[in-house]
Amino acid sequence: MGDVLERVSAAGKPVVAIAESLPRERLRANPDHPDAADPHVWMDPTLWADAANAAGAALTRLAPEARESFADNLAGFRARCARLDAYAKEAIGSIPPTARVLVTAHDAFSYFGARYGLEIESIQGLSTEAEANLAAIEALVRKLVDRRVPAVFAETSVPDRAVRALIEGAGARGHRVALGGNLFSDAMGRPGTHEGTYEGMIDHNITIIARALGGRVPPRGLNGRLAA
Ligand SMILES: [Zn+2]
Repeated sequence: MGDVLERVSAAGKPVVAIAESLPRERLRANPDHPDAADPHVWMDPTLWADAANAAGAALTRLAPEARESFADNLAGFRARCARLDAYAKEAIGSIPPTARVLVTAHDAFSYFGARYGLEIESIQGLSTEAEANLAAIEALVRKLVDRRVPAVFAETSVPDRAVRALIEGAGARGHRVALGGNLFSDAMGRPGTHEGTYEGMIDHNITIIARALGGRVPPRGLNGRLAA
């Protein structure tokens, strides 16, 4: 993605790396690339609200005559992020404490987990082939069973097999684990839908995570706008 954006920039389109405006100490380490930060900052709405300041500033530099509407849009966006943050605290906080474990496809949720008190386990790279991976799956199954975690989550990019291995493994030990649904991680939902907006994407994630792990949430999310 960085390479693509550099090419766009070289072609004369302004490109602003807004996450780079965030204070270094608010970024989390990227386990695969020790010298780069974990890029999934938009999963924490308070961080994304701050990153949006950099977008507002860049747009205002490019088109100063529209500064007022940029400022209005930024204020509205930051207010929506604050509401999402309050909703997430309440929703995730309603999950029984032992079940606050989020098992997802790839490592996209470390900012989300850190902000709202969820332990994060990623099944990326776990293939049922290699012996080391079998041990990793076994350890994760044990955690699901011991903590009575009721659900794991998929993303479209994940091999079903690893998820199924977890569900079957827990089932073999008498603990039923459900598929909690599909989370948005690196992309939003379809254009034109609520889930196709930043607000709707985060609303969707918060709502299905909290519900599947035993928390209390409104049936169609923060604004009553999630697809039924
Ligand atoms: Zn990602």
